[in-house]
Amino acid sequence: MKKETSTYIAFVVFGLVAALTLYYVAHQSWTNKDIPMLDFHRVADCNQTEDCEAEFDAYLGCLNNSGYDVISLAQLERHITKGAVLPPNPIVLTFDDGFKDAYATAYPLLKKYGYTATFFVITTHAEEATPGYLSWQEIEEMAASGQDIELHANIGHTNRSIIGPNVTRGTFFGNRRYLENYSRWETDKEYKNRAKDDLATSIRLIREHTGRAPHYWAYPYGDYGQFTDPSRPVERLLREAMTEEKITMGLLVDKEMPINATDLYRMGRLKPDWHESGCDLPWQGK
Ligand SMILES: [Zn+2]
Repeated sequence: MKKETSTYIAFVVFGLVAALTLYYVAHQSWTNKDIPMLDFHRVADCNQTEDCEAEFDAYLGCLNNSGYDVISLAQLERHITKGAVLPPNPIVLTFDDGFKDAYATAYPLLKKYGYTATFFVITTHAEEATPGYLSWQEIEEMAASGQDIELHANIGHTNRSIIGPNVTRGTFFGNRRYLENYSRWETDKEYKNRAKDDLATSIRLIREHTGRAPHYWAYPYGDYGQFTDPSRPVERLLREAMTEEKITMGLLVDKEMPINATDLYRMGRLKPDWHESGCDLPWQGK
């Protein structure tokens, strides 16, 4: 066999093997196991230990030693929508609410391991310098160092709407507001405008402070309207509001399955037992 021919065959075989490997890695991570998305709040909430910071350090160390590859939500989105290849052991780290210790405790430890996480912040707390929550200065520093700042709400996390006569209250986004002066509930348009206003305000503030518009939203309390009275549905309207505000992913809380691959607006996350020793994830091996 001529030398050129054998070189050519070797080249083709190598190309095929490389392509198959890439295909296998991409699809293995998708079909053979779920991609864990962990949902933290306060590091100080570990409650079963005296030193939450040390426990959290140990947890991240465990992920590191177990060969996990921390990926960003943007990487995950590209994987789902465009088939982009992920490292073999992907995991996503997220923190809700923007508590102060996200900066004081989580951020230095993430840096220690070279990890980036997503922080879903409540912008009104930064605006009003609410004690216990991240300031804009802290958020800006974290964003500048590569941490991902995304939206949780402006006022839509803390404000409980009046959702029925007798001052029944419910979540801001998950329900139509009851307009007591008119003795009726919000129309489609009124509900959607209220939801959109809060999302748009949050997006604008984050963009102004970090230089980058957020595109991912963790629903406050994981409520996207699934619990509301079916005669006053909001799910479709909220989804429209999200699309119009260029939000491309919606994240839930406390779902056993970490990913819902069929709907980017219903992405499940899991609250890890990180105060336990080790970092085994509950759905592995099922
Ligand atoms: Zn929250």
